[in-house]
Amino acid sequence: MKDSFLSGFREFREEIRTFVAENLPDDMRERARRGFHATKEDMRRWMEILHKKGWSAPNWPKEYGGTGWSPLKRMVFEIEMANADAPPRNPFGFHLIGPVLCEFGTEQQKARYLPAILDGSEFWCQGFSEPNAGSDLASLKTTATLEGDHYVVNGQKTWTSEAHLADMIFCLVRTNRDGASQGGISMMLIDMKSPGVTVRPIITQDMSHYVNEIFLEDVKVPVENLVGEENQGWRYAKFLLENERTGSAYLPQSKSDLNRLRSLLAELRENGDTLASNPVLDAELARAEVDMAAHEMMVYRIIDGVTGIDSNAAASMIKARGAELQQRIAGLWIEALGPHALPVYEDGEEEYGIRASPGAMSQYLIRRAVSIYGGANEIQYNIIAKRGLHL
Ligand SMILES: Cc1cc2nc3c(=O)[nH]c(=O)nc-3n(C[C@H](O)[C@H](O)[C@H](O)COP(=O)(O)OP(=O)(O)OC[C@H]3O[C@@H](n4cnc5c(N)ncnc54)[C@H](O)[C@@H]3O)c2cc1C
Repeated sequence: MKDSFLSGFREFREEIRTFVAENLPDDMRERARRGFHATKEDMRRWMEILHKKGWSAPNWPKEYGGTGWSPLKRMVFEIEMANADAPPRNPFGFHLIGPVLCEFGTEQQKARYLPAILDGSEFWCQGFSEPNAGSDLASLKTTATLEGDHYVVNGQKTWTSEAHLADMIFCLVRTNRDGASQGGISMMLIDMKSPGVTVRPIITQDMSHYVNEIFLEDVKVPVENLVGEENQGWRYAKFLLENERTGSAYLPQSKSDLNRLRSLLAELRENGDTLASNPVLDAELARAEVDMAAHEMMVYRIIDGVTGIDSNAAASMIKARGAELQQRIAGLWIEALGPHALPVYEDGEEEYGIRASPGAMSQYLIRRAVSIYGGANEIQYNIIAKRGLHL
């Protein structure tokens, strides 16, 4: 069945493989293959290379620089990228705010921001969560007050991924305190270099610097940086979050992690035998492969629109299941490698503010977060119950 879904993509896959083989710089490929975090420069350079080919934002409408590929074709593209050890692209630009601006942005916003996302010259981050507003996002307290031709923004954001690398942040802020909590929220584009923006690192348990807290003190934001209409930010946020969850099937990376583990078990030896000959490990790996194949099939069917499942419930299904599988695969790596999973390796990328720590254990630790970010799994189960099962 999987083959019938993908049979039309053989030539397309070949085209991508040839392009990556000829254009992905060896140093970048090697860093990704060895499990190091991509540097900002890797992400920028790779985006620039893809942009020259017209492939840096495949999900955008063609008129804004997208490819016009179907969702299925885009997934095939991402799987090939992960298999080839290509660096990730800054997702907050091309995957999250880009489509919002294509749909709801002013002509001025499109002209100013879209080209710099496409060629990788500007990085973005996402300022939604606050210390007391995560799952219950509508309780956010950061305020924006209109004063003449600009808003004055005050508040705090937290868990902001890649904020220390970002040039711009798209933020949810409160512009009206009356009425329903969702009604008074607006979305704004804020320059990270604005006076009053302070970024502080949060070091996660894998000893990486990926997330941050952000303090906004009397930050002046020009009115033209408002997205769409004032107090309608919740609508744009819902559009963005659904895209985020559909992209969070974690399929490309999980497939590649599982394949790498299979090859590793065939190579590594314990008391003369390969780890693949350990029946317990082999059975667990086989079970994960079966579950991954089922997940893959579900993702293809959902993004191809053939299931008829409510789109919110569908996005939540693949997000929650994808997170569970990613965590399980990371756990299998630890089981298979035993004490060899423990070392943490430094890659010396301090100049980008990244204390990289590749290694199976650090992957395992950071993957505890995949069932939290982009909306915690418990919240996804609630959406599935309500929108999918009508409970
Ligand atoms: C590594 C990482 C990166 C992140 N990156 C970003 C980012 O770039 N930008 C951004 O804006 N945010 C980011 N986040 C924040 C993330 O979106 C929130 O952590 C998430 O939405 C959960 O919110 P919370 O942390 O406030 O937990 P809470 O909402 O306090 O939840 C705590 C626990 O209670 C459960 N719970 C809460 N409400 C319910 C309910 N109604 N029913 C059942 N269970 C419930 C949750 O599932 C969770 O297990 C990131 C988080 C992490 C860990």
